[in-house]
This record gives sequence, structure tokens and C-alpha cells, in this order.
Amino acid sequence: MRAGFGFDAHRLVAGRPLILGGCRIPYDRGLEGFSDGDAIAHALIDAILGAAALGDCGSRFPAGDPRYAGADSVKLLAEAASIVSRAGFRVNNVDCTIAAEEPKLAPHIESMRIALAKALNIDVARCSVKAKRTEGLGFTGRGEGITTYAIATLDEL
Ligand code: MG
Repeated sequence: MRAGFGFDAHRLVAGRPLILGGCRIPYDRGLEGFSDGDAIAHALIDAILGAAALGDCGSRFPAGDPRYAGADSVKLLAEAASIVSRAGFRVNNVDCTIAAEEPKLAPHIESMRIALAKALNIDVARCSVKAKRTEGLGFTGRGEGITTYAIATLDEL
């Protein structure tokens, strides 16, 4: 059994759709990024690649590479899952936390779990997504950005 950890943070800006966990969430701002800015998908990519010691999101899907301009990050997550699978690992479970002051994410948690589990090719019961506020503290608390954390365990086949 291997464990991996991932982290990400993106700035919230006007004029972008808010994409989190593969879901488009109604809000007046979205996450800035070279791809679609899906910070939860990015943290998960780092967690599963990290568990397999196979690099990270930035080295596998570099910002600036035209192939990833505006990329659907859940597709990149599926690609990362197939990289770890080809290396002889199976994703056992993942657990994610999103730190965001706004918008309310509770109504979208189930959709995110379903989209992420599908990309990871695991049962939704093995895919946990949680959301927290930070009591107004720091850049997430001021609504300037969103921070994400993820952990993954992989079985070595
Ligand atoms: Mg990112």
C-alpha cells in the first residue's frame, strides 16, 4: 500500500467559470489557470502520482504547453490514473478537502465525487470530497482564492 499527498491553490478571478471536481459551479468568479483551473483535480493528480513516485501535475501536464491550454483537468486526472495503472498500481481510495469561503459547495459534493471517481476508475464509495471555510482567515478566507488538499492510497499490484 502506498500513500500520496497533493495540494493546490488558485486565485479567484472575474470572467472565468468556476470548475471544481469536474463540475461547473454557479458563481461570479472562477479559478485562474492555464487549464480550466480545477484545483481539486490538480491536487488529486499530485496525490496519485506522488503515491507512485511518478512526478507531479506540473511535470506531466506543464502550464504553457498548448496541449493543456484550457484543458479539462478531470481528463488529465484520468490520464494520471492510467499512468499509475500502467506502472502497476491500483487506486484504492482518495480523500479531498476544499478550503473556500464562497460559494456554498455542499450541493455540489456528490456530483464532484461521481466525476472524480469516474476519472479515477474507482467506485464512488472510495472517493471522498469535503469542503471547509477558514473563518475569514488568510487568502481563502478573504475569498481571494481556493485551496485544495488530497490524499490517495494505491495498492501495489
Ligand atoms: Mg493547479
